[in-house]
Order: sequence, then structure tokens, then C-alpha cells
Amino acid sequence: MRMSAPTVELMDYVDVIARYAPVLGMEVHVELSTATKMFCGCPTEFGADPNTQVCPVCLGLPGSLPVVNAKAVESAIRIGLALNCSITPWGRFARKNYFYPDQPKNYQISQYDEPIATEGHLDVVLDDGSTFRVDIERAHMEEDTGKSLHVGGATGRIHGASHSLLDYNRAGVPLIEIVTKPITGAGERAPEVARAYVTALREVLRSLAVSDVKMEQGSLRCDANVSLMPVGASVFGTRTETKNVNSLKSVEVAVRYEMRRQAAILASGGTIIQETRHFNEADGSTSPGRRKETAEDYRYFPEPDLEPVAPSADLVERLRATIPEYPWLRRGRIQSEWELSDEVMRDLVNAGALDLIIATVDAGAPANEARSWWVAYLTEKAKEHEVALEELPITPAQVAEVIALVEAKTVNNKVAKQVVDHVLAGEGDPKAIVESKGLGMVSDEGALRTEVDKALAANPDIAEKIRAGKVQAAGKIVGDVMKATRGQADAARVRELVLAACE
Ligand code: ADP
Ligand code: MG
Ligand code: ZN
Repeated sequence: MRMSAPTVELMDYVDVIARYAPVLGMEVHVELSTATKMFCGCPTEFGADPNTQVCPVCLGLPGSLPVVNAKAVESAIRIGLALNCSITPWGRFARKNYFYPDQPKNYQISQYDEPIATEGHLDVVLDDGSTFRVDIERAHMEEDTGKSLHVGGATGRIHGASHSLLDYNRAGVPLIEIVTKPITGAGERAPEVARAYVTALREVLRSLAVSDVKMEQGSLRCDANVSLMPVGASVFGTRTETKNVNSLKSVEVAVRYEMRRQAAILASGGTIIQETRHFNEADGSTSPGRRKETAEDYRYFPEPDLEPVAPSADLVERLRATIPEYPWLRRGRIQSEWELSDEVMRDLVNAGALDLIIATVDAGAPANEARSWWVAYLTEKAKEHEVALEELPITPAQVAEVIALVEAKTVNNKVAKQVVDHVLAGEGDPKAIVESKGLGMVSDEGALRTEVDKALAANPDIAEKIRAGKVQAAGKIVGDVMKATRGQADAARVRELVLAACE
């Protein structure tokens, strides 16, 4: 029988801070977006039918042998480099032995004392703009477990379930675990630091394009270790580890809750049990999980079936050259380069337009043009098709090509929009569309002059006005010529020709 949970005392947050100093430790698991698993060729796609993406290796069948996914190793090294870590020149995988039904081999291939990346840091920007350095202990490679589905109970938890189903599609998907050193000195901002760290880490991982980083789908999972020590003390208290906190906001909520819960226990003379805890999304509380195993329980030993990972200095330097600027630094730089107000900047970020605009500029377009296409016409199209801006079937390079066509006066703005429509309809690249559909501007001066003369002859009264110096009257003639050329002439040039003809 499961007893109803005892009521939990929580200390007021101001009192917690007055009496205790928090210490945090963040463990983040990232599923890499490689096409195949860590040690076999099975696909990694999310959402497939259960047990359709499995083979003898990831099912741990006798006699099968793992092979390391080189792409996953490259991603791991890039993550390490982005976090200012040293990359180990030689390191072995290790077996972490434990029995659990979602782990078909009864051990997980992981890294233990020879992780791929060690000793780094990430400078995290807090809400007030100040920076907090989080030291990174290590980033190591491992494989994900399968998934258990507990059926027949009210909560989906194992308690109360009548039976469990196992899906091994996720077993063997490449994971990187990134572990911080104990984070001290955050004081009352500890919950904010925890959230800001995971936020920054997620942005970095996204900019590296190594993972989907979707917390709600579990491709980024966060465990928060929290302990308290009396203010002024230097020996850390006993920590708890709150598992799988599945949103950024929840990271902050979970840390704050644990601080308040632990403080109440310590203040009343109790002791903290080292354990894992569950985060309860509904009320922001945590509840006890299992007692924490120690490293000895896992009987780690070097994995005998795999070669050591030994990245050459050359490879590491080649990968270092692919590490992009931190997203928040890039945003700041772009904002000042383009002279955007905080408000405009925020709008661009929120609309998901910033990266697209930057990519369009990188493809050769002037910043203003790139910005105006994405926030005006393309935003309109995205709304029309009910998709996110980035899901529109047009690439930044294609947008840059359209802008170049306008600049070269091959098409005017109006026709450029038609060209974009054709691209969105999947008809090819802008230049090819202009050529195949004959959308280029009429630039044959002789043909334009003929049209101008025709329009003047058809409107003798207007022609007379222009000749008498009423240049505003030229608008009607320009309009007629534009109509005659199906909008494909350069209106400014037509106007010049009209005025010249009336001199
Ligand atoms: P485990 O295998 O138990 O998860 P890890 O070393 O992977 O251990 O992660 C523990 C995390 O907790 C690390 O980020 C570490 O820096 C942090 N940590 C260690 N001791 C404490 C403590 N007393 N209070 C808070 N965090 C701690
Ligand atoms: Mg751990
Ligand atoms: Zn497999």
C-alpha cells in the first residue's frame, strides 16, 4: 500500500537566503540529432512505431558488436569546444552496469574516468544583463535507454499500473551528458542561474545544430542537484537530484522548491537524504524517487568491445573552426551593427526572423532588404499558410537571390513578389523562374520608347500638359506603359523616357 504523502514544510524564501547558501549541480542530457544510433546503424527518428528501429546491437543480443558513430563523436567534440573544454586525445568508453528493463544489455555504454571533454565553462547572461560563470566539469558520450510505458494505472507511473510495455527505439540513441562543477556563490539568484544556464546551454546546442533540444520531447533533459550549507560554511551539504525537469521555467521552480524544502528540514534539526526526486509539473513540488546509487554500485570498467576514441589535434582544430559565435553575443553585435532598437530586436527574435535575416545577409543581401522581406511579405505568407516563418518552403539564399534580381533591375518589387510566390509553390529558384516565365523587366529601350510614344499618341491632351511643364501629368502615361508591359518595366526609367519624349 502506498500511503498518502506527508505534508511538506517549506521555509519562506527570504529566510532560506538569510540562513543558507545554496550549491547547485546541473546535469543535462542531450540527444544528438545524428541520422543513426551511437553504436549501430538504426535510425533515430522520433515518433516511429514501437520497436521498429532496433537491431541486434541496440537490443543487446549475444554476439553483436558495437561500432562508434563518428558523427556523434564530432558532435561531442564540438559541444566540448563550445563549452571551452579540453578535448581528450585518448579516451575509452566504459560499461555502467545496472539492471533495468529499458536497458536491454543490462549495462549502458558510457564514459567514466576518460570523458571526451573536461574542464570548461559557460558565461551565462542573467535577466539583469550581468554575467555568471558556470564551470563545466565534463561532457561525456553515452547511449540512451529505451522507454517504458506503464499501463493500467491512473497516473502513467509504475505505481498502480497493471503491466508495462517496452519500446527500444530510443535505446542506443547518442547522448551527451554535460555536468557542471558545483555552482556556488549564486545565493538568492540560484534558481535564476539554474534556468539561465540551461537556457544558454540550449541556445549554444541549437547554434551548433547538434540536437533538436526539445525539452518537451526529451531531446534535452535536465537534472538539478541542490544542497544547502549554513551561510559562511565551506563544506557542502547533502544534495538531492531532481530528475527530468522538462521546461526552462520548471528548472527555476524545482530549484527554489528544493531550497525551501531542505531549509525547513535542516532548520528543524533534520538531515537531507541523498536521493533522486521527481518534479511534479502540476504544483511545482518535488517528491522522493530512489536512494542514490554511488559510482561503486555501477561496477564501471572499460568497454572491451570498442576502440578508444582518439581524436587527432588536426580534427579538433578543424572542428574548432566550425564553432559559431555565442547566440547572445551575435544578437548583440547584429543589433548594434544594424542599429536596431531593443523593441525591434525583440520582435525579430520572437517572430523567429532573426536567424533567417542573418542567413539572408550572409547570402549577400543588404540587411535592410533582408529584414523587410522576412518581416513583411514572407511573414504575411507564413500567416496565410499557417506555418512558422522558418517552415516556409523558401531558403534565405533564395530570398537573397530575389533581392539581387531587384537590385539588378531584372524585376521590380511587384514582380519580385510573384517570383517569391512561384518559389513558395515549389517551382524552383528565383533566377530560373524569371527566365522560364519571362518575368524579366522590359529593358529593351527601343521597345519601351515605342510603348511611350504609343501612350502619348493615345492621350494627346496629357501629352500637351506635360509639354507645358506639368510633369505630374506623366503619371498616367507611365501607368499605361507599365500596363502595356505587364508591370515588367522599370517605372522610374519609363518616367524618364516620357519626360524626354515631351521636351
Ligand atoms: P551523479 O552520478 O550522482 O549524478 P554527477 O557527478 O554526474 O553525479 O553529478 C553530480 C552533480 O552535482 C554535478 O554537477 C556536481 O557538480 C554537483 N554536486 C556535487 N556535490 C554537490 C552538492 N553537495 N550540492 C550540490 N551539487 C553538488
Ligand atoms: Mg550523473
Ligand atoms: Zn540498432
